[in-house]
Amino acid sequence: MPGYELIGEEELNESIDVFNKGGILFRQGFENLRNNTYKVDEFERAFTNKLKTNYSLAVTSGTAALRVALAALDIKEGDEIITQSFTFVATVEAIIESKATPICANIDKTLNLDPNDLEKLINKNTKAIIVVHMLGTPANLIEIKKICDRHKIVLIEDTAWGCGGFLNEKALGTWGDIGTFSFDFAKTITTGEGGMVISDNKIIYEKAKAWHDHGHENNPNLPRWEDSRSNSGFNFRMMELQGAVGLAQLKKLDFIVQSQRKNKEYLWSAIKDIKGIEARSKPAGSYETADALVFFVNSKELAKRCRENLLENGLSTKILPEAFTWHFAGTWAHMKELVESHKNSLQADLMPSYELLSRAVAIPITVKDQSDLASPLRKSIIKVMN
Ligand SMILES: *Cc1c(COP(=O)(O)O)cnc(C)c1O
Repeated sequence: MPGYELIGEEELNESIDVFNKGGILFRQGFENLRNNTYKVDEFERAFTNKLKTNYSLAVTSGTAALRVALAALDIKEGDEIITQSFTFVATVEAIIESKATPICANIDKTLNLDPNDLEKLINKNTKAIIVVHMLGTPANLIEIKKICDRHKIVLIEDTAWGCGGFLNEKALGTWGDIGTFSFDFAKTITTGEGGMVISDNKIIYEKAKAWHDHGHENNPNLPRWEDSRSNSGFNFRMMELQGAVGLAQLKKLDFIVQSQRKNKEYLWSAIKDIKGIEARSKPAGSYETADALVFFVNSKELAKRCRENLLENGLSTKILPEAFTWHFAGTWAHMKELVESHKNSLQADLMPSYELLSRAVAIPITVKDQSDLASPLRKSIIKVMN
């Protein structure tokens, strides 16, 4: 979770600073009124430095970040984009919005994209892969990147849950050609609503930047009202107050992730010896953001009983199992484009994912110390497993 646990004085002061310096809430222009205050610019620069990437573009949400990323790819009708069956609806929505064809691959025991299934789905129409680091655990990026390189396919990382995570000391979001982030209120750091697109590639960045701002190329030789453009675009611009909050939140990122990792480790140590429980896998070299503690039990029924028992003991679960249908593509019969692209066998195609996800349980992890939860957690799970 939870930047929202730490919204406080630092975010307030950054926001007040915007008003003290002239109250210009738009990210650009109004040079003579804003006392050189550019919070969104500053947030982007700080993000670029923190993630060790070349370019960062702030946008209005994580969903917008995905949409803007896809706009940088020159998608033609019939282009397919493969993502994973376990993600938030937003990932597939962005593909549909970009007029590409969405395909969902199965997951492996990391609960992220299964490289073997991915390889089977790639064909001449495949334009890009969107891998997701669900709940802060890295996907098998090394395998996935090899496959993308071999087939010369663009890799996008939906890093909505992975901000502050690493694989082999390289930040999540920087492995692919493009990384996208969400700063919605439930994510690791938050600006209320907000997102970021990052890339090392200048051409991708410039296309994304223009598209997120109605095609504006910010030509330095022209005033904005006469600005040059090559393509139409849309409006997904972040505003100054979000930038201000983001700046303060970003400074707390390391602390948030460290605290979450500590809580997760502690809670896992309280239950890992219980018979019938299996850990979620993670690739070697993972540095997880630890947004949740996820484990498998032997059946869907047991997973549901875990939730019931946890609730009885004043605890809860997060996404799995209770918000399963918002995060598992096998249930998305409402997305006709996805149903069609799977030739009406969406549910059957994603059976292997269902088998894993339906018996997974996720415990929410917070920034504040959770050690007092170890004992009720253990009690709840033991009761179900015996
Ligand atoms: C939250 C989330 C998004 C969308 O982010 P918003 O900022 O809420 O639009 C996209 N993908 C995944 C995996 C998410 O969890």
